[in-house]
Amino acid sequence: MRRSTLLACCVVAVSAASGAYSQSRGPVNAVLYEGGRLIIGDGTVIDSGAFVVENGRIGAVGPRSAVTPPDSAARVDLTGKTVMPSMINAHVHIGYEGYTSWGAQNYTPQNVLDHLQREAFYGVGATTSVGSSPTDQSLQFERDQRAGKFPPASRFFFMPGMAPPNGGPDAVLLKGTTALHAVNEVSTAQEARAAIRTMAGKGIRNVKIWVDDRRGSYPKMTPDVYNAVIDEAHKHQMVVHAHATTLPDQKAVVGAGVDVLVHMVQGEKLDDEYLAILREKKPYWATVIGLGDRSEVCDNDPFVDQSLPPKVSAAIRATVEARPLAPSCGPPGPNAPTREAMLANNFPKMIAAGVRLVLGTDAGIHAGHTFGIADHHELARWVQLGLTPSQAIVAATRTPAELLGIKDMGTLATGKSADFLVLNANPLENIRNTRQIASVYLRGTRLDRDALILAWKKAD
Ligand SMILES: [Zn+2]
Repeated sequence: MRRSTLLACCVVAVSAASGAYSQSRGPVNAVLYEGGRLIIGDGTVIDSGAFVVENGRIGAVGPRSAVTPPDSAARVDLTGKTVMPSMINAHVHIGYEGYTSWGAQNYTPQNVLDHLQREAFYGVGATTSVGSSPTDQSLQFERDQRAGKFPPASRFFFMPGMAPPNGGPDAVLLKGTTALHAVNEVSTAQEARAAIRTMAGKGIRNVKIWVDDRRGSYPKMTPDVYNAVIDEAHKHQMVVHAHATTLPDQKAVVGAGVDVLVHMVQGEKLDDEYLAILREKKPYWATVIGLGDRSEVCDNDPFVDQSLPPKVSAAIRATVEARPLAPSCGPPGPNAPTREAMLANNFPKMIAAGVRLVLGTDAGIHAGHTFGIADHHELARWVQLGLTPSQAIVAATRTPAELLGIKDMGTLATGKSADFLVLNANPLENIRNTRQIASVYLRGTRLDRDALILAWKKAD
């Protein structure tokens, strides 16, 4: 009580002194969020901060004592809470997951929206579908969402895929992308350049290539083709994301100037030659470590059960195939110890070499690899592998915003869209506290998470 009286006194005094709002009342829709710990998203923290949200944007932000709200501002007391920017996922495969089925038949604007709502529910403000979404439908969805046609959800971004004929996505995803003609099949440098020019003409900023041969079972993208992709894309200020999982492939594509690496080398230790290339090129890197790991479903984590249909979690819990080959609660698969050892060896080396880590999860790639939960799982894996929680949060906020050119997201800063999470506990103390979500705000509006839970329960 005493505190609020004091505050009222001081805010009036400061407001009058500043002059900014002393002559007229500020806009009625301004809200002051005060008293919370602010994780800015650039590695800095304000322990007792405040920020103003007006018309969906962040206004003044800083230590509580330094922020002057408009006179008319409503106030939200966030004492004891932590605020961080909403996350940005740079790598999912949206549209195919239907919870009781998976495939191209599920790919509708409604289902894309459902996946974006699930991402938003878990605090992800922007979500990027990579290489598996059909171009014209996706451009239409982006336009419709920007025009306000859909209810609040994670902002949708996408990029077309490019692969050799019959190459590219794994056997499961390939069934979906083939049916929707989502991947541009190119055999020659000339075809690759033409495809990039078509994308650039449509205003597309990113492209995904697959260079993998999936242990000899797929055609491989040849160096002349990916060199042409990279060269032509860079001429059009486009960004190239490359799926590459072996050391020779990663060396080749990073050396060739690819902007974003997807996946990590899991079968062998990185060598000095590669680390030198990484230090020189400093690519962005979406690790997607958590792909296939259902441990949180298996452990009956209530955080997962909020959005996952009970039938789906029950099916995963009943499956005992070896992980991580399938969504399963079976024992770790035969390759798991090697994979873990390689992660522990290679991840810190990649970070030390200066790669720019970004959040990506591969959610939606197969049935049961569900949206939103995986983002928090990925952050926790990074911290397990040696990142600080602060570094993990930057890699989930500012860095992907920078990579994807989302200028109004990524940090809590004046002028940015008011997309943020309010947490009940401090993730800088324990990264698992990103799951302690009190509320999610998108463009300054609180997301009705209870209504989403209700709708998902009804649909089940
Ligand atoms: Zn992927």
